[in-house]
Amino acid sequence: MTDCIFCKIIEGTIPSQKVYENDKVLVIKDINPAAPVHVLIMPKEHIESMNDAKAMGTAADIFAAARETATILGVAENGYRIINNCGKNAGQTVMHLHFHLISGIRMGEKII
Ligand code: AMP
Ligand code: ZN
Repeated sequence: MTDCIFCKIIEGTIPSQKVYENDKVLVIKDINPAAPVHVLIMPKEHIESMNDAKAMGTAADIFAAARETATILGVAENGYRIINNCGKNAGQTVMHLHFHLISGIRMGEKII
C-alpha cells in the first residue's frame, strides 16, 4: 500500500520509535500519546481494519505481541488496556489495522 503511513513505517521509509518487532508484527510508540505508555501494535501485512482480519492467525500474532510488549514495557503486572477502533465512526483514522496498548494512567469508567 503505497499511500499507507503504517506500511511506510514498516518499510522504514518513515521513522518511528520501535518497541518490539517480529516477522509478523511491529509495535511502535504512538506519536501523540494519550497516556504515559501508549503504543500501537500492527500486523506487517496491510490489513485495513478488523473487518478484513479474516485469518485467526493475525489475532493470535497481535495478542502474543501485545503480551510481550506489556512485559518489555514493565506494565504487565500493573495493568493495561488494548483498544481497536474499527471504521471511521469508531474513530479509526489510519486505515491499517492496529491496536492501541495504553497504560500508566488510572482509566475511567468502562463503557461496556
Ligand atoms: P486510530 O485513531 O485508532 O486510527 O489511531 C491512529 C493512531 O496513530 C493515533 O493515536 C495517532 O496518534 C497515531 N499515529 C499517526 N501517525 C503516526 C506516526 N507517524 N507514528 C506513530 N503514531 C502515529
Ligand atoms: Zn498499510
